[in-house]
Amino acid sequence: MNSPLTVNGREYSWPQQPLVAVCIDGSQPEYIEEAIAGSHMAFTQKMLDSGTDLRGHSVVPSFTNPNNLSIVTGVPPKVHGISGNFFLDPESGQEVMMNDPKFLRTGTLFQAFHEAGAKIAIVTAKDKLRRLLGHGLDYTSGRAICFSSEKANETTLAENGIENAQSLVDRPIPIVYSAELSEFIFDAGAKLMQSFRPDLMYLSTTDYIQHKHAPGAPVANAFYAMMDGYLAKLDAMGATIALTADHGMKAKHGSAGKPNVIYLDPLFVQAGLSNFRVILPITDPYVVHHGALGGFATIYLDSQSDRARAREALDGVTGVEKVLTRNEACELFGLPPDRIGDLVVISTGDHVLGSAPEKHDLSGLKDPLRSHGGLSEQRVPFIVNRCLEADATGRRNFDIFNHTLNHVVEDDS
Ligand code: ZN
Ligand code: ZN
Repeated sequence: MNSPLTVNGREYSWPQQPLVAVCIDGSQPEYIEEAIAGSHMAFTQKMLDSGTDLRGHSVVPSFTNPNNLSIVTGVPPKVHGISGNFFLDPESGQEVMMNDPKFLRTGTLFQAFHEAGAKIAIVTAKDKLRRLLGHGLDYTSGRAICFSSEKANETTLAENGIENAQSLVDRPIPIVYSAELSEFIFDAGAKLMQSFRPDLMYLSTTDYIQHKHAPGAPVANAFYAMMDGYLAKLDAMGATIALTADHGMKAKHGSAGKPNVIYLDPLFVQAGLSNFRVILPITDPYVVHHGALGGFATIYLDSQSDRARAREALDGVTGVEKVLTRNEACELFGLPPDRIGDLVVISTGDHVLGSAPEKHDLSGLKDPLRSHGGLSEQRVPFIVNRCLEADATGRRNFDIFNHTLNHVVEDDS
């Protein structure tokens, strides 16, 4: 038997059977609760009855990249370095996407297990996450596969460990704005479990459906029913299955369907500030999801007096839940100080933060806005198809590998 590995200061036992960790993007716990209540997730219902059903919480900011990276490294962003989807690079002074592995400050669990001889398979929706998740894997080894469903027809042995991953499944390449982009992942995951049988598998979806549809809505229920079918297949193949989410999702609009946005630039200008930079770490190229409107912003300011003035400008503004200094935010949320501005602003559950109206393309937002990023979207599901020992006490989404590798109650039957 292989001896346990220490990864980023935490010890992990070797998987006894294939472990499939599923990160359902934007899966506010109510999505699964509603789908089960409506009898759309028969297998998941079984998982809850005979396995483990907990609630966990995500990293703040409750965005995709920081949380996916915390899940696959087992540590908070102050250790792995990925503080948002988007940040102000202090070295270049440029605002850039955080998709490049050069921003990653530590290795992943996959890399460590792979180096120790494990077989790894990672399938994600968008190519933006793929390079971070698969960083450090040796694709020429025959023991590592990592690709996105978005670009599954462009995979190569050298870059992804598999030639033309699309041929795994009998499906066209889905468009980015679709439920099919996520379905492709599960279908490919089930096929890989059959043919490749990895020791560790990670499936990470997109939150396109959750941004548009509330828990219990027919489209949301159909999406969760689709997942349920594939989870049952993976279970039947003997895999341990662990479900969590990178973050939740909340409605961010009033009764008339108009988004509740706090635009920060005009507030600061009105307060007499001229030299400031508002960074919205939710920003990514997929504007139809959210128009870059989320619950967390970080502000770069020039001086102590400007910081005081900015705080004053936010004082008492409806929808602002918290204003923190860099140090307070980094301490509270485990963030890397060199990648956070002078102030952090967090909105309440029903509001989002923007920079200025003209900087947000809301033309693609056809449905009332739903989004995430703040404290209100921290609650995530934490479900395992096995029982966990009582000492599995961590409740962060990034405890999921610790719990499933170290604390599963082995079935003696
Ligand atoms: Zn996400
Ligand atoms: Zn999102």
